[in-house]
Amino acid sequence: MTDQTVTRQTFDEVMVPVFSPAPFVPVRGEGSRVWDANGRDYVDFAGGIAVTALGHAHPELLKVLHDQGAKLWHIGNGYTNEPVLRLARRLEALTFADRAFFANSGAEANEAALKLARRVAFERHGADKFEIVSFTQSFHGRTFFTVSVGGQPKYSEGFGPVPQGIVHLPFNDIDAARRAIGKQTCAVIVEPVQGEGGVIPADPAFLRALREACDAHGALLIFDEVQTGVGRTGHLYAYQDTDVTPDILTTAKALGNGFPIGAMLTTADLAAHFKVGVHGTTYGGNPLAAAIADKVVELISDPALLAGVRSRSDTIKDKLAKLHERFDVFAEVRGKGLLIGAELNERYRGRAKDFLAAAANRGVMMLIAGPDVLRFAPSLVMPAADLNDGFARLERAFEDVAGAAR
Ligand SMILES: *Cc1c(COP(=O)(O)O)cnc(C)c1O
Repeated sequence: MTDQTVTRQTFDEVMVPVFSPAPFVPVRGEGSRVWDANGRDYVDFAGGIAVTALGHAHPELLKVLHDQGAKLWHIGNGYTNEPVLRLARRLEALTFADRAFFANSGAEANEAALKLARRVAFERHGADKFEIVSFTQSFHGRTFFTVSVGGQPKYSEGFGPVPQGIVHLPFNDIDAARRAIGKQTCAVIVEPVQGEGGVIPADPAFLRALREACDAHGALLIFDEVQTGVGRTGHLYAYQDTDVTPDILTTAKALGNGFPIGAMLTTADLAAHFKVGVHGTTYGGNPLAAAIADKVVELISDPALLAGVRSRSDTIKDKLAKLHERFDVFAEVRGKGLLIGAELNERYRGRAKDFLAAAANRGVMMLIAGPDVLRFAPSLVMPAADLNDGFARLERAFEDVAGAAR
């Protein structure tokens, strides 16, 4: 028998050390509360990294999980299944898209998008149109293609030769984009709000300029909505609050509320370039993930829920402003809907991790986005009582880090 007793220390003994998890081990969640192995409770502003958009243990999702779990989990793509067809139809009714490809993660959805863009350019324009334009600080996943396209070199260096034909431009720089996008460009990939890169919204004029440049040069515009999608910004997809429509959209994170699923959405014309066998997946589009995602999208596309995202956003921004009034810690609070970044000012530069640790110590789970930005990506239906309690706890955490300095 192997020893069944596990603690945080077990992590260091048995896991590949690519993560550095918090000192406590969560064992149970309900709504926006999580309990650790010692029975201590935490208010959850992290949402499993912008994933658990309907909170933990949502009763309607549990029901779908149980019902579909008793019917069919997996069948393989030699057969189709009813949940995946319903999910595709629902997403297409709610967006510009009329074709869907399902995967298991954001990185895989982006991998499919980038491969589709390369294939479309190859078939329509020939072998010389392969350049992918992306932006510094962007994040598109951890497969080798997606880290190479992502704009954070620390994630792609040290793994040998990188895929070629990728250029990185400064984010929100219209002139640089107009200069660089040309006949060699096959696709531009952009996050409507850079998430991991520091919660930086794209300027509406920047997105318009990308659309125009892509149209002028026959390049495809890919919106990576893995973090911004499924209600996070107060709209089902962030592009729906801009006057720009992408050619390809990728979505994952909140799509399964924690059950792994990702999707690439596109038009029928573009999808036709992915013929039988050109791309594929074993698990992508499995009935269990699809049934759950279908319920998630049904619940989140409700206009009342989306309005609630925008009002919670205002509440959190107000509460951050009050924390700033008391402690003088932020240079800027920004973001959209319930993807909010609070950038630390000069005095606390590089110390986001200290705030994260102090928050955990006071019973709050939150995120950072780089060394200088505190990130909030809670459940879109977070109850007001939890939100208030979370900020009361955060105030104590801020006393711990910033109190002495005042
Ligand atoms: C998280 C994220 C990804 C990667 O998703 P995984 O599911 O971790 O592969 C890609 N793009 C963006 C914008 C993300 O936030």
